[in-house]
Order: sequence, then structure tokens, then C-alpha cells
Amino acid sequence: MSLLNTAKHLLRTRRCFPKKRLGQNFMIDEDLLRLMVSYASLNKNDVVLEIGPGLGFLTRLISQKCKQVIAVEVDPRLTTILRTELEDLDNVTLVEGDVLKVPLLDFNKVVSNPPFYVSSPILFWLLERNLDCAVLTFQKEFARRLVAVVGSKEYGRLTVMIYYRADVELLDHVSKDLYYPSPEVDSYIVRLRPRLPPFAVEDEQAFSQVVRTLFTQRNKKVRNAIVPYLARLGTRREKIKEIADSLLYHDKRVRKLAPEDFGALTNEIRRLAESKRRLSSMVND
Ligand code: SAM
Repeated sequence: MSLLNTAKHLLRTRRCFPKKRLGQNFMIDEDLLRLMVSYASLNKNDVVLEIGPGLGFLTRLISQKCKQVIAVEVDPRLTTILRTELEDLDNVTLVEGDVLKVPLLDFNKVVSNPPFYVSSPILFWLLERNLDCAVLTFQKEFARRLVAVVGSKEYGRLTVMIYYRADVELLDHVSKDLYYPSPEVDSYIVRLRPRLPPFAVEDEQAFSQVVRTLFTQRNKKVRNAIVPYLARLGTRREKIKEIADSLLYHDKRVRKLAPEDFGALTNEIRRLAESKRRLSSMVND
């Protein structure tokens, strides 16, 4: 039976209607599922996380290539199906719950078709982990934002923050027709390899805040877009303009800054704030 027919049969006989809200679109092309597994270069030492195993088609293929699969599914209707569908596999640990909330054992790789509605939180959550690689599908627009060119319309906060933490490759375009039921848009298979940051950032929290603030006004020049951030740092009103006009890249549009430029700008602001603090403590001493 084709995966499409198996999916329809399982869902019908178990009276389980796919929930759009949970991103329940099942990949029904076995060649594509095999390709995803191959991109992770699995071996018998790997412990693999699968986010949202759904009906278990991908889970079965992953389990043949690795030591253990941790499959985390939020929908109890699907975990009921999975318990019987996967009962012959002794290296699959099925966990019921929200992947971002349940406690999990360590894993070193991820292979998954995650639900699209939580692409961004899942991605940032994964990058906090000590991973060798992750092979995931993301909706077309989201995937393009991950690798967008500086200055393009897709270039933004996501591009900069991901570039800082990982190598990203868009591997294959996936038509929406290869899912059942079909989602509204096509997707891409993406491989991520976390890596050391390619440029130095002295305060990662500040970096994240600067990038976030600047991209809320992506078409403005840095000297204008940075004002809310300087105000939040407690800079005196009459000083804000003077500092903003003296910063690195003050005359460039935000969307034209490369990821490294955001890093250099954050470091400069931090040093300015630090010397201001030192100065005021000397005056008060
Ligand atoms: N792995 C299957 C496949 O390849 O076809 C299903 C993928 S489907 C796009 C996403 C799956 O993630 C669904 O089974 C859905 O119930 C599950 N899911 C949705 N939100 C989740 C969450 N927060 N944690 C874990 N699983 C979730």
C-alpha cells in the first residue's frame, strides 16, 4: 500500500481527523523521507530526536539507521496509533507532549518534519542544544529567510541570528502535494549544523536586542533605528542623537548591514555604555 493510502486508512479506521492547528500534514513520499534520513548521515551511535512523528513513517526509517529515536508527539490520538504502529521497533522511545516543554534525554541529531506553526521557536530551541546536525523541513518563505542575502526582502532578524549560530543549507524543494492533507505552501528540506560564532560578540543578549530593535525599522538608517535601544539603556535624551550620529554604520540602512556589522555595532554600544558607567562612578566617588 502507498504511504498515502496507509495514512488515509489509519486516520479513517482510528477516526482521527488531521488538525490544522497542530500542523498535521503527513509526508507521504517514501523516497523523500529516505532522502531526509540520508542527509543526516546516521550511524549506530546516533540518538535522534524526531519532533512530531505523526503516523510514524519517518520514525521507522530513522530507527533502521541509528541507535535510538526519541519521538515526541503532542497529540494523544496519534501516540495511541504510534504505540501499535511502532511496537515492533525496540529502539524508539515515544514521548507524549509538547517538544518545547517535556523533559528529554540527550540526543545528537534531529530528523523531522516539524509542525510549521512553531518553526521559529523550535529552531532557536534546537540551537541552544549541543547538536551535530538537524535535517528539517520548513515552509518555503521561512526557509528562504534563513539563508537570505543581505539587503534582500527576505533578509531579517532570523537570518542574522541563525547565521550567528549555524551553517544552513537549503537542500531540496518539496511540493505541497507530497503531504496529506496538502498544506497551503511548498517547503524545503534544510540542514543545520550548529557552529562557533563566525564573529565576536561580547554580550549575546545585547546583540539579540540590538538586532531585534533595528529590524523593526529595517528601511531606516541606523542612527534613527537605534534610538529606542539607546533610550532603553537609560541614555539621556539630549545625548541620544549625539551618540546615534557617531556610531559605526550610522548612515547605512538597517537592511544593508551584514550580520558581522550588527555584532560590531553592539560591541561598540556596549563599550560606550561601559565607559559612561565608569566615568559616572569616578565622578560620584
Ligand atoms: N512526522 C510526520 C511526517 O513526517 O509526516 C508528521 C509531521 S506533521 C508536519 C507535524 C507533527 O507534529 C504532527 O504529528 C503534530 O501532531 C505534531 N506536533 C504539533 N505540535 C507539536 C509539539 N509542540 N510538540 C510535538 N509534536 C507536535
